[in-house]
Amino acid sequence: MGTAAALTDGVYLHCDVDKMYFSVEALEAPELARDPRVVIVGLDPREYPRAVVTTSNSVARDIGITSGMSTAIAARTAREHGLEVVYVRPRHAVYGQYSRRLMELLRQHTPLLEQRSIDEAAMDWTAAGFEREPVVKLRTRILEQIGLSVSFGLAPTPLVAKMASEVAKTLADHVCIVAPGESAAFLAPLSVRALVGVGPKSEVRLRAMGISTIGDLAQQPLTLLVEQFGSAYGRYLHAAASGQDDSTLVGEHAYKSISAEHTFARDTADAREIWSRIRAQARDVSERLRAEGLVCSEVAIKLRYGVTWITITRQLRLGAPTDDAEVLAAGAAALMRKAWTRQPIRLIGVRAGKLEPARAAVQLAFPS
Ligand SMILES: [Mg+2]
Repeated sequence: MGTAAALTDGVYLHCDVDKMYFSVEALEAPELARDPRVVIVGLDPREYPRAVVTTSNSVARDIGITSGMSTAIAARTAREHGLEVVYVRPRHAVYGQYSRRLMELLRQHTPLLEQRSIDEAAMDWTAAGFEREPVVKLRTRILEQIGLSVSFGLAPTPLVAKMASEVAKTLADHVCIVAPGESAAFLAPLSVRALVGVGPKSEVRLRAMGISTIGDLAQQPLTLLVEQFGSAYGRYLHAAASGQDDSTLVGEHAYKSISAEHTFARDTADAREIWSRIRAQARDVSERLRAEGLVCSEVAIKLRYGVTWITITRQLRLGAPTDDAEVLAAGAAALMRKAWTRQPIRLIGVRAGKLEPARAAVQLAFPS
């Protein structure tokens, strides 16, 4: 992994919109921005008991209301502070329009952009290098033309650039630059939870092992992490903690994958229904790979929750290229078990990525 990281180190810029949903709502209705009440973009818990806060205003954040918190708990918190709550129903179509405008603007500044979510994108930034000024200028342009405040992380790998964009949110100019060779030092003081791919459960396990910062994690022997977290995730933690990242950007032009998606007629948390849908999708993807004479070395899932529309994608590098439905289904199921919070799902998808002709893969399998 070390060699691969060195080969792909470059200059990457990660863009993340600050409080996207609330910011768009406040642009559309400026009085919301000045509202002294707690403003939550999310559904009213009296109607939707399991709704969560997507984003909120600063009044809400000041009393500890955070994104992802249940709106019922947020309402109780507001009551305890004697504050009134306004619920704004999320309008995904409107956020989508802002997102498209943002991505179009960003594309004018990079030869390669990979959209990561509605409000995040990773870009090849090699041409401009590690200079602060072009990034600050782009940020100003976004603010002026679209009205959105964004945070930028600039780093030698896409992974570190993403984490830098989180740190950027706490900085005055919302730009965080990690120079070449400084990734490990930049990551070391951050909480392990800040590492991409470490969720609440992994955080608890890591802390129980006495690992609280990314720097602590970087010092653990690979064998221990593999023993504790399995081969794929253990190796990932080991490499990522020191800033190594062999991923490259998949731009729209180079993008090639085969996927199957399904929107449930009713949001479902029925595990049997979900597992059987994943198996069917893996079979579908496998058949289409075979029809095209392709194999994949990555399997990914996409899952969208019902109430919040929060969409999650996760991918897994396979040990060897394959078109086997069983292997794809097992990979997708493993990702799903880790990602799914058991809340009702609106949409599920399985995708095969990193495709190549089947024959080339067989030849490559021998020398390695
Ligand atoms: Mg964001």
